[in-house]
Amino acid sequence: MKLLVVEDEPKAAAALQKGLTEAGFEVDVAGDGEEGLTLARAAAYDLLILDVMLPKLDGFGVIEHLRKAGKDVPILVLTARDEVPDRVKGLELGADDYLVKPYSFAELMARVKTLLRRGPAARAGAIQIDDLEVDEATGKARRGGKDLELTSREFALLALLARHSGQVVTRSQISEKIWKVEYDGVSNVIDVHVRHLRAKVDDPYDRKLIRTVRGMGYALGG
Ligand code: CA
Repeated sequence: MKLLVVEDEPKAAAALQKGLTEAGFEVDVAGDGEEGLTLARAAAYDLLILDVMLPKLDGFGVIEHLRKAGKDVPILVLTARDEVPDRVKGLELGADDYLVKPYSFAELMARVKTLLRRGPAARAGAIQIDDLEVDEATGKARRGGKDLELTSREFALLALLARHSGQVVTRSQISEKIWKVEYDGVSNVIDVHVRHLRAKVDDPYDRKLIRTVRGMGYALGG
């Protein structure tokens, strides 16, 4: 399990790195938001531990950029300010949990374990479905060896389907994972995105990989 700690206070960062390494994790540390974002985009982490008050780009900015890029790595936010608006903002932007400073290491470990249990399945390398390849580490998808030009939303949707290939992914699951909102049962935004995705992933090819499962959702392959 590989974690990224984005924390600008050297002592706090060192303590986190030491504790988490001793707990058996592989740990990278970034000292500011820009560095954190760069690392988080370039490598596949199982979890991000992200301070809010950071130089160059704050934690909120990091979350926003990552989620827009379709990265759904679990994020635990560390906030020094026990203010509800901050907390809410972090969660609205797509953080998974938060911890108010000062926190105990035991408390942090408990949150980390919960998030890792709940987080996206381990994604070692690219997922291969038929001649389609979905690589979450690089954010690229290819079919028949040809790069697919997908928007970040389309990629996130394809990656979600790929992670559950052969299974039905319901509209409410898609809504929750990609849009971070509860499915209202009416909105056709998902269907529109699936249509766009199909135009790129399936339309040019004989073999169709995205299936509509009536009344339920969508499945990729299988
Ligand atoms: Ca800080």
